[in-house]
Amino acid sequence: MSVQFDQDQAFALLREAGAYLQGHFLLTTGRHSDQFFLLARLTERPQWLMPWAQELARRLEPYQVSTVVGPAVGGIIPAFAVAGFWPGSRMLFAEKDSGGTMTFRRGFRVEPGEGVVVIEDAVTTGGSVAQVIEAVKAQGGRVQAVGALVDRSQGPLRFTEPLVSLLRTGPIPHWDPADCPLCQEGVALTRPKS
Ligand SMILES: [Zn+2]
Repeated sequence: MSVQFDQDQAFALLREAGAYLQGHFLLTTGRHSDQFFLLARLTERPQWLMPWAQELARRLEPYQVSTVVGPAVGGIIPAFAVAGFWPGSRMLFAEKDSGGTMTFRRGFRVEPGEGVVVIEDAVTTGGSVAQVIEAVKAQGGRVQAVGALVDRSQGPLRFTEPLVSLLRTGPIPHWDPADCPLCQEGVALTRPKS
């Protein structure tokens, strides 16, 4: 299967997978939106995810790293899939400790001076990615780049490393419930992640 990953095609693939939804959604922030990305609908199908992972691996090849780190939970599957395209690579994941900070457990180690890319499913503010970068640096590793299936950022990110993504969404509207036009039209509200 040949996938070009221009914006239109990427949106079409996500829509087909049920990973890009249009409707009336309650966000975790409490605000409402008419669009929602549910990337588990893509990552649950290995044969759908693999072309995305292959393209992300190709775009990250110039950084010449062989260690991939994903933030749990959303980053684990795409990080593993990208690492699969690099012979001899390792894939580690960071997860929240009891205080809610991303950290390495399970004996995962980054060697001093080791080059790393961090892979996330979707980046909004980059908060989780920034914590993973700190965890890598704490072990002496060097994060060369961040890869994401979807970049839905609408402002400055919480990390400064280069971000390589396959789809940039552009601005996605969201409203306070009191100002939500979909509420005013009486469109049923859905909680897509529940
Ligand atoms: Zn609403």
